[in-house]
Amino acid sequence: MKVYKGASASPGLVLGQVSRLERHVETFSDGPFNPEREQRMLDEAIHTAQTELDSMAERSAPTEQAIFLFQSMMLEDEGMMNEVRFQIKAGVGAAEAMDRVGRRYAERLANMKDNAYMQLRSVDILDATSRVVNILGNRPRVWMALDHPVILAADVLMPTDLFSVPSGMILGLITSEGSGQSHAAIIARAMNIPGIVQVGQGFLDDCDGRAVILDATKGECILDPDAAARQQAVTRICELQRENEELSALRALPNRTRDGAAFELLANCFGPEDIDTAMQSGACGVGLLRSSYMMLPGRILDEQEQYFFYTSCLAAANGCPVTVRTFDFGADRTMADAYQGLQSSKLGLRGIRNSLRNPRQFETQICALMRAAARGPLRVMFPMVTDVEDWDAAMEVVERCRQRLRERGVSFNEDTSFGVMLSVPSACLTAEEFVAHGCGFFVIGTNDLTQYTHAVDRELAPAEHYYRPASKAMKKLIRMVMDTAKQGNVPVTICGLAVGNPANATQYLQLGLRSFSMSPQNLLEAKKALLEADALPEEEELE
Ligand code: PEP
Ligand code: MG
Repeated sequence: MKVYKGASASPGLVLGQVSRLERHVETFSDGPFNPEREQRMLDEAIHTAQTELDSMAERSAPTEQAIFLFQSMMLEDEGMMNEVRFQIKAGVGAAEAMDRVGRRYAERLANMKDNAYMQLRSVDILDATSRVVNILGNRPRVWMALDHPVILAADVLMPTDLFSVPSGMILGLITSEGSGQSHAAIIARAMNIPGIVQVGQGFLDDCDGRAVILDATKGECILDPDAAARQQAVTRICELQRENEELSALRALPNRTRDGAAFELLANCFGPEDIDTAMQSGACGVGLLRSSYMMLPGRILDEQEQYFFYTSCLAAANGCPVTVRTFDFGADRTMADAYQGLQSSKLGLRGIRNSLRNPRQFETQICALMRAAARGPLRVMFPMVTDVEDWDAAMEVVERCRQRLRERGVSFNEDTSFGVMLSVPSACLTAEEFVAHGCGFFVIGTNDLTQYTHAVDRELAPAEHYYRPASKAMKKLIRMVMDTAKQGNVPVTICGLAVGNPANATQYLQLGLRSFSMSPQNLLEAKKALLEADALPEEEELE
């Protein structure tokens, strides 16, 4: 019996037999090749790969759909495909050219060490390009014919791996490398398959065909467990099943506190991929869509591409409302931050400050958003607003976009609702001015509001004890916002990691909040706390 530690990618506990995924090692012939013929074969293979990916997308839920559509889109990426063409012209065979360029592109993204988002795209590129290489080599894309459910082990997992095995045959996933933010991990979470990453090569070399207990919540696995460990695991699996059933049963209950106050539960999301998971976990909409995360390296998407992204988000939300935050470059640590080359300190030109300095880019986003708002219940908020001057400047841009869209004669929502994300104390302290200037709604962002109120970097572990999202100071600010919102009849949502914490959610409820937005995985725990809480009138509220 040996314990291997890794990092959790998708929670859960299972017991089963490991099956190690062996990948085909490519060998390519030396040629000579006829470049024209190779190019023709490549074009056909790309067409076949895209047909396969599109058909996989059609068969899957929005979470997976977006991933397969992204892969299909990558096979049309001009930069990458030009490099492949160039190599074919220089005499390299189509399969080898595709393989080389795919690996180089994937490696470039994988090396962005402080950027989990771009790293996960890396595996998608490999997945898509190796599909083309397999088609050119006439190899099947389904790699494993399993006759009983197993725990899959591999170096890293590709998103399509999970679809290459008959459904229900994967009990769990263990990878020696990889990331919990990868698309494969997102799909695993959506499919409720427990998984851990980064257990190391030692496990991989040793695991095939052996029994394992995978405790993915804890982020570890036990190879060759003894009888006592097995018994313990089986007991815990039964307990977890009972707890899950209890939490799942909450989904159907109306959102009402013990003393009868109605509340709404929304989710903080990154795109269609996790919106779907959120909706399945009982969210009734998206309270925060972090739009900066849709960006690919070195490029701001054009209006049409952004429009597709926002409408995909609306589709994933099944007609429920989606609140999109305009770009929050300067704080999200996406590749787009680097591309913007801005002074991206947390106290610098982030959020709306950056958008206002890049009017073209801001207009593109606002036009795409107002067009998408004609297709479903979408509203828009500005991050890092400091005072009403920011709001006025942003709304001038909105007005200009309205005018342009009218002139272009495209369909858009003239009455798209715009609001402020309150994450800077100065904005909370002057909230009435936003109301007076036509602000449609407030979203209190506790992650940043705590950081700026307490002057503490939210990512700095040694200063963590200063980071208190339900402190007296925070409550005072929140109460002020609530009073202003009540007088001005402006809806307020509270969002951030703290809202997913049952104790904090209850305190915010008692400050008058009725709309809560949090990470999808916290929805049911928070709901449980709110159902059991009383929304006490403010006079009776305990500090
Ligand atoms: C917040 O600031 O509260 C928030 C939810 O936004 P983010 O975590 O993206 O900064
Ligand atoms: Mg924020």
